[in-house]
Amino acid sequence: MSLVLPTYDDVVRASATLKGVAHRTPVMTSTTADRATRAQLFFKCENLQRMGAFKFRGGYNAIANLSAEQRRAGVVTFSSGNHAQAIALAGKLLGVQTTIIMPIDAPVAKKAATREYGATVVEYDRYTQNRDDIARDLQHKTGMTLIPPYDHLHVIAGQGTAAKELIEDVGELDYLLVCLGGGGLLAGSALSAQALSPHCKVLGVEPEAGNDGQQSLRRGEVVTIAAPRSIADGALTTYLGQLTFGVIRQYVADILTVTDLQLISTMKFFAERMKIVVEPTGCLGAAAALHGALAFPEGARVGVILSGGNVDLKSYAGFLTQS
Ligand SMILES: *Cc1c(COP(=O)(O)O)cnc(C)c1O
Repeated sequence: MSLVLPTYDDVVRASATLKGVAHRTPVMTSTTADRATRAQLFFKCENLQRMGAFKFRGGYNAIANLSAEQRRAGVVTFSSGNHAQAIALAGKLLGVQTTIIMPIDAPVAKKAATREYGATVVEYDRYTQNRDDIARDLQHKTGMTLIPPYDHLHVIAGQGTAAKELIEDVGELDYLLVCLGGGGLLAGSALSAQALSPHCKVLGVEPEAGNDGQQSLRRGEVVTIAAPRSIADGALTTYLGQLTFGVIRQYVADILTVTDLQLISTMKFFAERMKIVVEPTGCLGAAAALHGALAFPEGARVGVILSGGNVDLKSYAGFLTQS
């Protein structure tokens, strides 16, 4: 089987497509963080992206690349998280009907937000029904195109535009720390880093409880794990994609893990010191930097992608007040 892997040229094309549509999010710094790590940290704030996460980049780029005929037939995806809202918002902006397959027990707020962006929500019972079957059935009956959350060339290329902007804005980096779920963000970021900052070490960071990426990179093949438990709900994938792994094994130096307690402490740091809301999954890269998952040489220039800020207020309050 030959796979066509995305390249940096695809990222460049995605950034032209996203120009004036996605926010060029700010890069923040913190003297406190620099002092604690004895490095220079550059936080790329995708928590301030449209719909609250980098996923808008990949979702929009994927729909924008469909043919006129495909656009008329609409798009379907399954997700209970940020990819659902990304596809819904991108579909609305591009005039494409979107259908999102979500579990019946997904948070009411998430279903409502997805509908507000104009998507049709199809609910399924995750204990008795298979979402792949439902998606395939819809595709078959309606001609809709399935856009998966990470293992897709235009999704990966779109996600890579955040790291491209970061390096363009602050210059070359020694390290780049990226949150890792299915690997779309990490693969895209790695494509940008190897093109724009070839000496940069790109590192993925995933929850300790769900280290399928780490196992896969070390073993040289995609490893599937049992469904992990972590507060990083955007990184509970149990295996990497074929495309994402293909890029990751070429360009990613290593994959690190952090604990839920380290994520909570990092969330508090962002709230208290930097005055920004970052969701648990969005803290993965920063938690690795702030909690010593790796020791930087003094003064190292470290890029950190804060991938999203969508966290239910009640749970957020709970995290912030947990001691
Ligand atoms: C989806 C998501 C991730 C993981 O991205 P992948 O491309 O699946 O690796 C990380 N952070 C947030 C906030 C997400 O929504």
